[in-house]
Amino acid sequence: MINKKYKIKGMHCASCAGVIERTFKKIDGVSFVEVNYTTEGVKILFDETKIKINELSEKIEPLGYSLVFSGSDENSSSVVDMDQSKKEKILELKDMKNKLISVIPLALISVFIMSWDILASYNKIPEMSYTVKEFFHHLLPVMATYTLFVVGKPYLLGFYRFVRYGKANMDTLIGMGTIAAFIYSFIVSSFEDLLKPFLNVESTYFDVTIVVIAFITLGKYLEFRSKIKTGDAIEKLLNLGAKTAFIICDGKEIEVSVNEVNHGDLIIVKPGTKIPVDGIVTEGYSYVDESMITGEPVPTEKKIGDLVIAGTLNTNGSFIFSATKVGSETLLAQIIKMVEEAQGSKAPIQALADKISAIFVPIVLVISFISLGSWLVIGSSSLGFSQALSYGLMSFVGVLVIACPCALGLATPTAIIVGVGKGAKEGILIKDAATLEKLYKVDTVIVDKTGTITVGKPKLVDIVNLSKNTEDKIISIIAALENKSEHPISRAIIDYSKENKIEILNVSDFYNIEGKGLKGLVNNIEYFVGNIKLIQDLNIDFNYSLIEKYTLQGKTPVILATRKEVMGFVMVADEIKKESKQAVEDLHNLGIKVVMVTGDDKKTADYIASLVGIDSVIAHVLPKDKLEKVKELQQQGRIVAMAGDGVNDAPALAQADVGIAMGTGTDVAIESAGITLLNGDISKLVKAIKLSKMTMHGIKQNLFWAFIYNIIGIPVAAGLLFPIWGIVLNPIFAGLAMAFSSVSVVGNSLRLKTKKL
Ligand code: ADP
Ligand code: MG
Repeated sequence: MINKKYKIKGMHCASCAGVIERTFKKIDGVSFVEVNYTTEGVKILFDETKIKINELSEKIEPLGYSLVFSGSDENSSSVVDMDQSKKEKILELKDMKNKLISVIPLALISVFIMSWDILASYNKIPEMSYTVKEFFHHLLPVMATYTLFVVGKPYLLGFYRFVRYGKANMDTLIGMGTIAAFIYSFIVSSFEDLLKPFLNVESTYFDVTIVVIAFITLGKYLEFRSKIKTGDAIEKLLNLGAKTAFIICDGKEIEVSVNEVNHGDLIIVKPGTKIPVDGIVTEGYSYVDESMITGEPVPTEKKIGDLVIAGTLNTNGSFIFSATKVGSETLLAQIIKMVEEAQGSKAPIQALADKISAIFVPIVLVISFISLGSWLVIGSSSLGFSQALSYGLMSFVGVLVIACPCALGLATPTAIIVGVGKGAKEGILIKDAATLEKLYKVDTVIVDKTGTITVGKPKLVDIVNLSKNTEDKIISIIAALENKSEHPISRAIIDYSKENKIEILNVSDFYNIEGKGLKGLVNNIEYFVGNIKLIQDLNIDFNYSLIEKYTLQGKTPVILATRKEVMGFVMVADEIKKESKQAVEDLHNLGIKVVMVTGDDKKTADYIASLVGIDSVIAHVLPKDKLEKVKELQQQGRIVAMAGDGVNDAPALAQADVGIAMGTGTDVAIESAGITLLNGDISKLVKAIKLSKMTMHGIKQNLFWAFIYNIIGIPVAAGLLFPIWGIVLNPIFAGLAMAFSSVSVVGNSLRLKTKKL
């Protein structure tokens, strides 16, 4: 089984996606297919021993589609791909525009003649003179022939494929309608004398063919133009990347293409230039504008040891950094990949629209024939055959044209694409459409303390020595163990030791005691470093009230003990992020319960929580129990989002309805999270929730408008209003409504872009 992604060429309506999906699903060896009309991509899982990829493409080629193979599999760079498809799209748009320009005058002439006829029939204006009438009489068929066979070619092909392969899509509906109007008119005007006794040969429908195709072409053109715009977030991200880098080679600066940068290359960044790859500053000092990636408006200070990100912009300083991530590994490349995937993914809410569009086309075909038949059968007796046929034909064409489920197919994906893109711009990375659909329903947010509410860079602030050793000796033992740990606490201790030139001893038999601390041998003596829990486990005498004074101030204890006694402890304190308090308040205002879950001391956690306004704290939680806490809340019927940053949060993030990784955290957390807040700013969570609400609202509006056109349009077009008000819908209005529905749906999605979060 192999899982591949390809681009599909030739789709021009949302029901095409359904036709392709169904065709692939029927093939032996194919176990999963997902076609996305808006991004023109297909994800397919198939057994290579049963079917080759070119055979798959051959299956859809007769239907007018094909798979694009070059450079579009999972591993290749999507950059080339995007450029290519963008160019193709621009060409396609140009072609559509040319056709549109050629057909608009024809449509205007048709409407002019039609209006004249109507006004004249009400005696508002004089009849056309005979010569003029004859002139138009002969001009219309010529214009209609051009319109149908040149501009309307996709619809003719849609009809042809229906006849040949029995596959109907939206083009089939339009094709069938306009062809019917054309053929009827052609026959009537060719055999005028012969048919005069039976039919009203005066009225032909060449104008219907012309105007309907013109409207639909206009609608498609506008739709396509906006559709390109919905996806421009990716393009903006792609443009962030630098093309070249200056690397230092044998003491000289040389300019190379970014693709040629290797791990460990030293790169020099000059004032005002872009950072080409990810890396760590080794020399120099500057401020870097990271707003394009993280959404953080204030430039970030960069000194030796700090991380720099590809695509961000250096301000005035100059520095040298060592490349750590290049090519597809850079954060920017990952973001592009993630945004692309999210935009191409299907929201669960779309399933309904998909189901409906799938059965829509055949149902509409049936309805159109039924309405034609009913007019002939029921109408003939009261109106006469000739009039009934002409109304019947109008209904037939009207139903086919108005019923196109085009807007239905655009409703969800266009909004998702805009929503995901808007998020990316703010530093909110959304993994897939399903996450975006779920987020606004969240009623409980679990936050980790360290790194989520607090900055995650604790500092050593107090030392209490309970032994006969010197203070420095205590620190050097603690530092020995912490040197092996990756917990944020360890940085505080190591930094302190270095600043005060305290020797960091060697450690052996090091062991990490999950959620409690560390143990190891230093100079052959076994030591433990950790929290109260750890000391309690050791069952040694300790006056816990000694540390209470500190924990009540929100400081975290790090206790040093042997198996027999506590030797002393240090206190570390972490700053609260400046945006935490406001974020908690905003979440509360949205009616969301905020729970802090931490492995830290209860009193420490309570204090921090009280400062930011969190009322519910669960402390002393072991990493594996964070998962249980999430489950517990879910069992109470709550929809839980969990925000965390550590490696040990990953299982809980994955269990939560929506996992939120704080971007300062590790790659692991990002992968198991549905949403990543790139600069680790918890207030972005509030924005993300608003974005989700906004996007879902947009989708629901879109679906409403798409449905309402069809629900009202079909019966009206079929002629159900005729018995009541004597109204028969001219198919021209069906064409107008159809064009308008797609355009209004895409336009509504685009509106999301400009809304404030
Ligand atoms: P959290 O991410 O909430 O801090 P952890 O499970 O990572 O949760 O840690 C829980 C607690 O265990 C910490 O608050 C600390 O008291 C103790 N601990 C963990 N690692 C260390 C360490 N390297 N040094 C000292 N204490 C530690
Ligand atoms: Mg942690």
